[in-house]
Amino acid sequence: TVLVAGSANLDFVVRAPHIPAPGETVLGGDFRTFPGGKGANQAVACARAGGARTRMLVALGVDAFANPLEESLRAAGVDARIVRVPDEATGVAFICLSADAENAITVAPGANSRLRAADLPELSGVSHLLLQLESPLDAVLAWARAARDAGVRVVLNAAPARPLSMELLATIDVLIVNEGELRAIAGEGGISAAVARLAGIDVIVTLGARGSCAHAQGEWLLQPAFEVEAIDTTGAGDTFCGVFVAALAQGHEFADALRRASAASALACTRLGAQSAVPAHAEIDALLVA
Ligand code: ADP
Repeated sequence: TVLVAGSANLDFVVRAPHIPAPGETVLGGDFRTFPGGKGANQAVACARAGGARTRMLVALGVDAFANPLEESLRAAGVDARIVRVPDEATGVAFICLSADAENAITVAPGANSRLRAADLPELSGVSHLLLQLESPLDAVLAWARAARDAGVRVVLNAAPARPLSMELLATIDVLIVNEGELRAIAGEGGISAAVARLAGIDVIVTLGARGSCAHAQGEWLLQPAFEVEAIDTTGAGDTFCGVFVAALAQGHEFADALRRASAASALACTRLGAQSAVPAHAEIDALLVA
């Protein structure tokens, strides 16, 4: 079983010719809402990848925005433990998507900011804990420590970008970051500081359309991206994380899990939305043998 502890947001998405610069107004296209939030996206990707049972700790408000989020988790087969927060709005994200598939995102975390250390469910039967940085940092650290103490492997997707404490890094087995997030961890010290801080941790760096690279169990791995027609890269990184951990939990080797994650995230780029773009098990298999 994989346990994901993290965020759920309802995404408000508008496509526009380009992402507005400060002070600029851009006339966009149709408006749509999609279930999102890094935690929920990763839980859905993990569940749909098949093979591993997926549980999720998530906080939602008591409002209409909570319903589609709950329904999306349920439909994907995620066993959700929901913390209800009556005095905060459900998390939302405002996403502008440009014609060249870039995005700019503003998140209002709402209920997500109310998850606490004590909300972590029982860990019996859990092999992997998958975390992101859209929850309060003290809770993330407490969950990671509890998991480590229970012999559960901890995978952290250090997104959105922010510096990480040595305390948190000490609890992690696998770190997944994109280039911006790696820069935030490196801070003033640059790449050499990052390398020193990450010693002993398996690290995956995702490189967008260029694929990903990893340093794991003392070996370097390069995983090119699968070539697809990308229309919306929202949730590509989340699909990557969820499918990667599902594969590990199923017993796949690290390099194999990386390949599955890469195929799944490429497929996610070909569809609109985050959770709605997550591919099913059979689609991932089909791309891997193509
Ligand atoms: P994030 O969305 O977190 O910034 P990336 O942009 O690095 O993450 O994308 C995560 C993964 O998704 C990449 O490592 C790659 O495997 C896949 N991916 C992203 N963009 C594309 C693309 N245009 N074509 C194919 N795969 C892609």
